[in-house]
Amino acid sequence: MHRKAKEGADAERRRLTTTRRGAAPGTTSPAGSESQVLRARAPLRWLVAELVDRRAESRTAQTLVFDVPGWPEHLAGQHVDVRLTAEDGYSTQRSYSVASAPDGDRVELTIQRVEDGEVSPYLMDVLERGEQVELRGPIGGWFVWRPERAEPVLLVGGGSGVVPLMSMVRTRGALGGSAPFRLLYSVREPDDQLYVPELLRGEPGLDTEYLYTRAAPPEHPRPVGRLRAEDLVRGGWPADQRPICYVCGPTGFVENAATLLTGLGHDPGRIRTERFGPSGG
Ligand SMILES: Cc1cc2nc3c(=O)[nH]c(=O)nc-3n(C[C@H](O)[C@H](O)[C@H](O)COP(=O)(O)OP(=O)(O)OC[C@H]3O[C@@H](n4cnc5c(N)ncnc54)[C@H](O)[C@@H]3O)c2cc1C
Repeated sequence: MHRKAKEGADAERRRLTTTRRGAAPGTTSPAGSESQVLRARAPLRWLVAELVDRRAESRTAQTLVFDVPGWPEHLAGQHVDVRLTAEDGYSTQRSYSVASAPDGDRVELTIQRVEDGEVSPYLMDVLERGEQVELRGPIGGWFVWRPERAEPVLLVGGGSGVVPLMSMVRTRGALGGSAPFRLLYSVREPDDQLYVPELLRGEPGLDTEYLYTRAAPPEHPRPVGRLRAEDLVRGGWPADQRPICYVCGPTGFVENAATLLTGLGHDPGRIRTERFGPSGG
C-alpha cells in the first residue's frame, strides 16, 4: 500500500504526528464495548479503498467517495478506521463515520479539516482520485439505527458529529423507514453547515432544526448560543412517546447534550452517544 504523498506536506504532517501518536480520540462504553464484542465475533480485515470522487461540503469539509471491493455493508451510525502507510513503513490511522446509506461497495466519508492535524488535511488536500488507502469496518454495534425500528428518533449533532446522523437520515430515506426523525444540528455559523442542499430539500417525517453557536442567519428564530434544555423539549411526537436519542459530536457537546436529555427525563439507556474528539465547537 502506497501513500503517494506530496513531499513537503507529508513530511510536515509526519513530523507533527510522531510527537502525537496516540490513537484517535475514541468513544466510551457502551459504544466501545459493543464494538469490541462485534470485533471478537468477526475479526475485521483491512480492505483496499480507492478514492473515486470528492465533493466540497463546506469551506472546511469534504465528502470522499470510496470504492471498497468486498465491503460487507454497514448499518447507519457505524464508523471505519482509515489507515495510511508511507513508503518507509510508517503508518497511522483514524476513525471516520460512514456518511452514506448502505450502497454496495460504495462508502462515503465526510472529513472536517483539523488545521494542525496529520490525517484530515492529508485526506482533503493530498489524496487524489484513483489513489488508495486502507479501510477497516464497519465498526460499532450500539450507535446504530436500524430502519425496521418505527419509534421516534431524536438526532443531536454538533459540528461533524452530524455525519453518522446523516447516514441514519439517508438510510431512512433510501429504505422508506417510517420512524419520525428530528435532527437538531448545532454549528458555529451557516458557512459550517454540511449537507446543505439535501437537508434543505428535506423529506416527509424529517424535521431539521439548526442551532448556531456563533452567528446565525438574519431571520433565524433562535438566539445564538450553545445547546440548551429548551432546544431538546419540542418533539413533534406525542408527549407520552419518548424518542430514542443519538448524540454525536465533540466530547464537551456530547456530554452536555446527554446531561440535558437525562435531566429532561430521558432514559439513559435510550441515549446513544458517540464522541469524535476534544471538546469545543
Ligand atoms: C468514532 C469516531 C468517528 C469519527 N468520525 C469522524 C467523521 O465522520 N468526520 C471527521 O471529520 N472526523 C471524525 N472523527 C475524528 C477523526 O478520527 C480525527 O480525530 C480527526 O480527523 C482529526 O485527525 P487529524 O489526524 O487530522 O488530527 P490529529 O493529528 O489527530 O490532531 C491534531 C490536533 O487536533 C486535535 N484534534 C484531533 N481530533 C480532533 C477533533 N475531532 N476535533 C477537534 N480537534 C481535534 C488534537 O488534539 C491535536 O491537537 C471521528 C472520531 C471517532 C473516534
